[in-house]
Amino acid sequence: MTEQFDFEIDRIVQAINGRKSLRVILQFPEGLKRQAADVATTISRQVDAYIIIHGEPCYGACDVPRGKADLIVHFGHLPIPCLDSPNSIMFIQARSDADPMPVIQQAVGKLPQKIGLLTTAQHIHHIVPIMDFLKSEGKEVLVGKGDGRLFAEGQVLGCNASCARNVEKKVDAFLFLGTGNFHALAVSLASSKPVIIADPVNNEVRDISEIRDRMLRQRHGIIEKAREAKRFGILLSEKPGQRREKMAGYVGRLLSDKGLESIVVEMDLVTPNKLKALGLDAWISTACPRLAIDDYSTYEKPILTPIELEILLGKRAWEEYAFDEILEGQ
Ligand code: SF4
Repeated sequence: MTEQFDFEIDRIVQAINGRKSLRVILQFPEGLKRQAADVATTISRQVDAYIIIHGEPCYGACDVPRGKADLIVHFGHLPIPCLDSPNSIMFIQARSDADPMPVIQQAVGKLPQKIGLLTTAQHIHHIVPIMDFLKSEGKEVLVGKGDGRLFAEGQVLGCNASCARNVEKKVDAFLFLGTGNFHALAVSLASSKPVIIADPVNNEVRDISEIRDRMLRQRHGIIEKAREAKRFGILLSEKPGQRREKMAGYVGRLLSDKGLESIVVEMDLVTPNKLKALGLDAWISTACPRLAIDDYSTYEKPILTPIELEILLGKRAWEEYAFDEILEGQ
């Protein structure tokens, strides 16, 4: 099925007119960009404000535009509560209309007794009905509360699975409602419990363990490849919600303690060509963990997370491999 998203046009129009905003920036994540022009045109017809689409790539609420505007409307994500922004921002989570119940009914027979329920911004409005349904089927359901990077209970980000870790000891497995593998992979690597994906768009129930094992084999290979490196680049993001200066400092100290040379490189959008131009032997990314984990194959040189660097340098055993989460206060 194809899913539709609720862009909450009426609420946006009311906000623009109510605040008498003159200059409004609309920001869409990559998955919603094809609908950006239609949404912008519909809004433009109902307001006097100057409407601009932010054309740069966007992958999360960690990366809101820093340009001047009376109002920024960010689609597709919930706010990251612990992040300050100088601009006035309205978050439209773009609720999906995909009905989760058929896939949850399919999943229920595969679930153990105690379940931790997780999802993303697009499906978070279904948490309570799903919880009620699972309880009616005799399951015990827990919805965890995360740290200050997570807006809603049961919400998971590709860089933060704290709401899963907080209930991990009380559940037998996690049930993730959503599409794609990355969020479930983050939970699977951040906790020791099995993760079952219920995908309401493709109406598919699947286990993440095979993908997790394949990904771990890839990560092992990349860590080994980085052993040959003499000069490391430490990636420090310019995006406010991905910028981990303390982590970059820690990474630099780890490398210098082992007599290895490193340099911090500050960047907004990271691309293979930008890294290639600098000619360094390997990279440690303190930015979004998706960069190292999801996009690694597009980069010529190995990109490691800080945790993988600890393994490379013998500060952590391979058996203690953990997902690189960006936590509140980092
Ligand atoms: S750091 Fe990455 S995973 Fe986290 S919110 Fe930003 S884009 Fe998403």
